[in-house]
Amino acid sequence: MSVNIVWFKRDLRLNDNAAISDAIKRNLPIICLFNLDSQRTSRSDVSAIHIEWELDCLRSLSKDIHQLGGVIKFNYGNIFEALETLNLEYDIDSIIANEETGLKWSWDRDKQVAEWCDFNRVKFVEHPSNGVVRKLKNRDNWKKYRDKRVSAELFPKPSSMPSPSGSRSDEIPTMKELGLDSRSLEYRPIPGEEAALSTLNSFLNERGRGYRKGMSSPITGEVMCSRISPYLSAGCLSIKQVFHHTVARQRQVKVDPRSTENIGFTSSLTSFQSRLAWHCHFMQRLEAEATMDEIAINPELDELLNRQLDQRKFIAWRDGKTGWPFFDACMRYLTATGWINFRMRAMLQSVASYTLWLPWQATGLHLANLFLDYEPGIHWSQVQMQSGVTGINSVRAYSIGKQSIDHDPDGDFIRRWVPELAKVPAEHIHQPWMMSESEQEQYNCRIDLDYPAPIVDEKAARKTGISMSYKAKGDIGVRRRAKIVFDIHGSRSRSRQSSRSRK
Ligand SMILES: Cc1cc2nc3c(=O)[nH]c(=O)nc-3n(C[C@H](O)[C@H](O)[C@H](O)COP(=O)(O)OP(=O)(O)OC[C@H]3O[C@@H](n4cnc5c(N)ncnc54)[C@H](O)[C@@H]3O)c2cc1C
Repeated sequence: MSVNIVWFKRDLRLNDNAAISDAIKRNLPIICLFNLDSQRTSRSDVSAIHIEWELDCLRSLSKDIHQLGGVIKFNYGNIFEALETLNLEYDIDSIIANEETGLKWSWDRDKQVAEWCDFNRVKFVEHPSNGVVRKLKNRDNWKKYRDKRVSAELFPKPSSMPSPSGSRSDEIPTMKELGLDSRSLEYRPIPGEEAALSTLNSFLNERGRGYRKGMSSPITGEVMCSRISPYLSAGCLSIKQVFHHTVARQRQVKVDPRSTENIGFTSSLTSFQSRLAWHCHFMQRLEAEATMDEIAINPELDELLNRQLDQRKFIAWRDGKTGWPFFDACMRYLTATGWINFRMRAMLQSVASYTLWLPWQATGLHLANLFLDYEPGIHWSQVQMQSGVTGINSVRAYSIGKQSIDHDPDGDFIRRWVPELAKVPAEHIHQPWMMSESEQEQYNCRIDLDYPAPIVDEKAARKTGISMSYKAKGDIGVRRRAKIVFDIHGSRSRSRQSSRSRK
């Protein structure tokens, strides 16, 4: 019997799924396939929290597929084992999938699947599923393509899914059944497509009111940020869906911006739309350079910076034991929950790179393991940008002292996540090492016994990091490379360009 395979790489949803829509039009029975790649589970950037999240989202998708009369097969191992088995049992006409923008290993896998298809006379069809445009030579027209992509009509959710008669679905195994260990997260989101849509709706209609101002603090950001990132990375939502829902809400707000339910939303939704554009902008970088987890897009600059893996500094940074209360609170919060807002992510990375002078590959890898929403295209682009190894972005080294006072003035967030400082009052919470010995006794926090002294002098180390970065950025070879980098990766948006020329 001839069948078509819908290969779910990551787009774990029924709505706006180009691969499913295409398969349904072809009028052949469909088998859905999910292969948990053993090559992927053993990668150092992939953590058990990512796999468990994906499996939970897949389990929810599998229920939805059953309700439509469809079947889903699961394999843990190599995609070719799964394809061989299916091709023996059925006659595969086409494998239909959505394009994935991933690291080099996923490119290599897709190339091999294309070869397998050629050899077995199977058609291999891949559809774009976000704003990433394949085979672009430079960024000149990218925005035009991206905007057209995301505003295109959504693919409808199928009302049924024909499956080969007698075929049965596989149960989606648990981590334990697969012999994989996991790590529990506090406040873990609910997996699946339905929860994704309801999270987006609650943001667009309620929580997002204070987004523009609230996104910068880890306290307000927890509620006021959309929190859709883990759903986007598993593909429970497409960026196109988010764009469409946001446009619809923007239209509603425009009609009556002063009504109680709309107040505060105009500027927040504009800011949100620009973040959605950034999502695609950074993903496009990985599309052009699939080795961004290892090689800087400006390798000459990275070489000149010559950062070193000092184990003592790395461990203190990794474990949230640097002696800088706000920094430690952010790292511990992220470790416990799998999420933190953008500004604090930028601070965690920039402190590693500028203040502690640690190599971005090692620190970026650790953060990748912590983020439930790990998305290689955004992640490695941001890690490189916040570490100053692109040569086209400004040197931005975050001051922990400033972030701490701006975003946690009373120290509530610090006390919640750094219990060693639970009794320290607001006047000392940002710099507990300045307390006298009697104050340390009084507040149950003896520096170097209960809580570490700062690992380095933050102000001085940051200043040195910044000046070494400017010096390296001025090198002729680095500047020459920066021109090429800008051609391939640079934003053509006017506001960003003018900030570039202001530098
Ligand atoms: C060092 C570093 C690493 C990061 N790694 C990841 C990652 O692995 N996965 C990930 O999804 N995001 C990453 N980000 C970007 C950003 O911090 C998260 O997208 C955001 O915090 C997720 O929360 P949210 O969905 O509530 O975001 P919101 O602020 O509500 O934004 C909505 C969506 O817009 C996109 N977005 C928002 N900010 C950015 C940005 N600066 N760059 C690109 N896209 C953005 C995301 O898709 C996000 O889900 C990283 C940022 C930094 C500084």
